[in-house]
Amino acid sequence: LKTTVSQIEIPCAFGPAYEGERVRGADLYCQTGGGKTQCTEYLQLAEMNDIEDGKVTVVGPDIPDMKEGDTFPMAIFMQVAGREFQEDFEPILERQTHHLINYIQGIMHIGQRDIAWVRVSKAAVDKGFTLKDIGVVLHAKFHQDFNKILDKVQVTLYTKPEDVEKITAQARAAYKQRDERVENMTDEDEEIFYSCTLCQSFAPTHVCTVSPERTGLCGAYNWMDCKASYEINPTGPNQPIEKGEVLDPVLGQFAGVNEFVKKASRGAVTHYNFYSLVHDPMTTCGCCEAIAAMLPACNGVMTVHRDYTGETPCGMKFTTLAGVMGGGASSPGFVGHSKYNVIQKKFLKGDGGLLRMVWMPKSLKEELRERLLKRGEELGYPNLVDMIADETVGTTEEEIMPFLQEKGHPALSMPPLVG
Ligand code: SF4
Ligand code: ZN
Repeated sequence: LKTTVSQIEIPCAFGPAYEGERVRGADLYCQTGGGKTQCTEYLQLAEMNDIEDGKVTVVGPDIPDMKEGDTFPMAIFMQVAGREFQEDFEPILERQTHHLINYIQGIMHIGQRDIAWVRVSKAAVDKGFTLKDIGVVLHAKFHQDFNKILDKVQVTLYTKPEDVEKITAQARAAYKQRDERVENMTDEDEEIFYSCTLCQSFAPTHVCTVSPERTGLCGAYNWMDCKASYEINPTGPNQPIEKGEVLDPVLGQFAGVNEFVKKASRGAVTHYNFYSLVHDPMTTCGCCEAIAAMLPACNGVMTVHRDYTGETPCGMKFTTLAGVMGGGASSPGFVGHSKYNVIQKKFLKGDGGLLRMVWMPKSLKEELRERLLKRGEELGYPNLVDMIADETVGTTEEEIMPFLQEKGHPALSMPPLVG
């Protein structure tokens, strides 16, 4: 017998009408994530008998235990069971948290995976909103929208730092496994790419095209995930795109993709390149895990991820970059991308590839270190990772230049970036 949930019992209004709503400074009651604390979302396939449908638990302080201005850590741990439910579906349901939490009036959600950010407004707290309501919404909407593939949904919201750390470590291991599922695939070998228009409610002209070697810029959707999403929901936001004629193999431009993007952006974007930030890059929305930018004086590029809040050599911090680029336009000189994309072989290939990378935050270098070492070796620069400057070297082009020269960074002897 299938459970159906028609009523969502929370004290706040709920629906797509509230999705684009912001919670600004003066309206803010408390928040989690956003570089201030850890906020993680993780959905895992469970054994049918291990979970209880509709059970929503908050382990640790909830909103009534907090005061105005508080920041708190949180892990949203969703467990789903169903005879039709496959592990491949985990990322798709997990990504729904973005719009579903935004559907709650007075609650704002940004980001995904282990870089989520939830802002709770005073108005919502006045109405009686608690964190438990997030679980109530997820349980109800998962049943409504994915009834075909699932039978049980259990949600646990952890707000004690030690629990959040534990779930985050588990989640990161799963994210890594999911990322690696496309590791040996190439764009040349696949005739079908997938669109993602999930973010159009925030960035109306934004269309991600997800190919094996170009994962979604949010980091949450790769080619496999989009394929699974299309299987679950054939009329949903992930549509197969016949890539068609290869118009430019180096920059990565495909006739079939252009055609699709033009339609899906209602004419606003007529074409874009998969592997370039210099020439007509892909559109960027506010969810990107990282943003790459040109550094013309160093003849290279840099990238900065959401967690790094400091200055960068392009003159803008991540938040400024996301604010300027995140509206869904194609902005030559800049492009949003996932962290995993940095170590994919087509990353900015049209601009010279990973060998152009002259600066990235130290924490991102550390996070990707193992895989950067491997890529460096493949590219003939086994110590590339240590040739890339970071904030300890400098945060302006001038400051990092002597370091690049001393290390003999390959970007310095490459053809001009802008020619
Ligand atoms: Fe989809 Fe792109 Fe938004 Fe990720 S960033 S959810 S891939 S549209
Ligand atoms: Zn987005």
